[in-house]
Amino acid sequence: MPFVLPYRWLLIVTLVLTFAGSLMAQVNAVVLDKAVDSINAMMHRETFEWSEAARLLVLVSVILLGKELLAAVITFGQRIFGEKIRINVSRDLSLRVVDRILTFRVAYFGGEGNEPGKLQTRIDRGVMSLSNTVKNFFIDILPLFTSAVMALGLMFAANVYVGLVALAVIPVYFVITARQGTRMKGWRRRVFGTHQALNHGIMNILESITVIKSFNRERVEADKQAKLQNDSTDQQMQTRRISFLFEGLKTFVEQIGTVLIIILTAYLVLIDYPGMTIGKIMYHVLLFSNVSAPIRQLHRIYDDLNDALIYAEGFFGILDNDEEVEVSGNHKPAAVRGDFNLRNVEFTYGNGTHAIRDLTMHIEAGKTTALVGLSGAGKSTIVNLLDKFYSPDEGSITLDGVPLGEWDTEFLRDNIGLVLQKNHIFSGTIEENIRYGSPKATREQVEEAARKAYIYDQIEALPDGFESNAIQLSGGQQQRIAIARMFLKNPPIIFLDEPTASLDAIATEQIKNSIDAIKEGRTVIVISHNIGQIIDSDYIYVLDTGHVAQHGTPDEVYKQGGLYKDIFDASARSMNADKIAATLS
Ligand code: ADP
Repeated sequence: MPFVLPYRWLLIVTLVLTFAGSLMAQVNAVVLDKAVDSINAMMHRETFEWSEAARLLVLVSVILLGKELLAAVITFGQRIFGEKIRINVSRDLSLRVVDRILTFRVAYFGGEGNEPGKLQTRIDRGVMSLSNTVKNFFIDILPLFTSAVMALGLMFAANVYVGLVALAVIPVYFVITARQGTRMKGWRRRVFGTHQALNHGIMNILESITVIKSFNRERVEADKQAKLQNDSTDQQMQTRRISFLFEGLKTFVEQIGTVLIIILTAYLVLIDYPGMTIGKIMYHVLLFSNVSAPIRQLHRIYDDLNDALIYAEGFFGILDNDEEVEVSGNHKPAAVRGDFNLRNVEFTYGNGTHAIRDLTMHIEAGKTTALVGLSGAGKSTIVNLLDKFYSPDEGSITLDGVPLGEWDTEFLRDNIGLVLQKNHIFSGTIEENIRYGSPKATREQVEEAARKAYIYDQIEALPDGFESNAIQLSGGQQQRIAIARMFLKNPPIIFLDEPTASLDAIATEQIKNSIDAIKEGRTVIVISHNIGQIIDSDYIYVLDTGHVAQHGTPDEVYKQGGLYKDIFDASARSMNADKIAATLS
């Protein structure tokens, strides 16, 4: 309703046309009834006049052809308006769902059944089948049913018994359609599930094509798909089989109805029942076909509605999912210092991974804090919590003394710059990608940010310069675009999660210099496996399976021994620090 109501004027016009169209549908029966009776009367009169017959035939032709012309205009109007409603509703549904998804918290997208491929199918199918339902209702269902009700009314008006026979057939259809519906329902759900899995599977293949090829796993992947495809084929055949079986049954019932109407009307004509003339046989048979037409379609309508119900479940599940909407407080101070305090924080991901355990740490404002630990220790998870992508299950996190939950989320993220190991580059030009950090920035500011990220010269060397497609840049270049983006944003708090992981040595040094320059007076959290970057920090937290194992200044933690010393020494050995030192000296 809320999606259709904005188009109420279109709806009213469509409904008026529908009513007119239904009236037109009864014209044939009325005209034939009158024509047959007139011809019959002419034949039984003593003097037969050809001119009289010709007049009748001209009249019948004019009425029937005129009606057809009018009906064509009406149908055209009805279709075009119905389509207009469908297209508009479809657009509104798509816009609403995109708006909605963008408000969801990050945890939603990692949830089961919310993988990109599945989500995409759910949205596409939902939009398509819901807008089709709207269209079907106004273009197919409503006109057919109005016409059926009118035809039934006319049959009753002409003769109650004939009307009753026509009416009696309807429940039989409903029973058959309902049975068909129940038989099909389970199958339709299965077909939908398999379809989703197929889409998801192809998406997976496309995303991992180089890995599949490098391991020669084409056959394995093809077999996985083949199994799904075969399931899908079986399921489709099964649904078709059921559907054709019931179709046949219904056509048969309809014929029984027609036969009964013919026998009854012929009988009533033969016994000279009042008002029953020979023309009424044609009249009732034609009207009955108007009554049974929508019922013949009942099953298709039922199917479409069932589809719509299945898909609507998934679709409105997204639209009505208030629990997943990111909550925001309204704390927006004039200035952000960047002093984070985490107390006894516990956090478990949706899949059950207990990533953070009883974690207490203090990130001092204006200082650089390094998070050190083996892979999977929970370093990135801490950044996720501080950026409010996830909220802790227990414990508290405050920023400048105010619980993170009370901060305005948009404001908070405006004040945090995040550079990840794998930075997302959008399809679009390099300039657009850098400008993502601050949409209002001038071209000069964009270029300045590129200079700070030591990527300006490389961009200028490209044939299209800043207009080049950013997707085609190398991993290290993309990394620097992401850093330029952060420079342009210029936030007081900076999180760097392995910012130089995919850079060469020269670029690493350049970026290190730029980051050193921007670090001044800002709160920086750096996650790195690069000892060179870690020892530059003011304070270090060493994490072990989601828990703080050690903390202190770089020298203090090293002297404590333990995990940090292990990591430090291993790092120095793997770098061949002794030989490097010897070479340098
Ligand atoms: P680190 O950054 O120290 O390498 P992470 O914080 O990425 O470690 O991961 C900590 C733990 O949480 C790991 O066991 C990892 O498998 C798990 N994890 C990370 N991200 C997710 C996620 N989105 N969903 C479920 N588990 C996750």
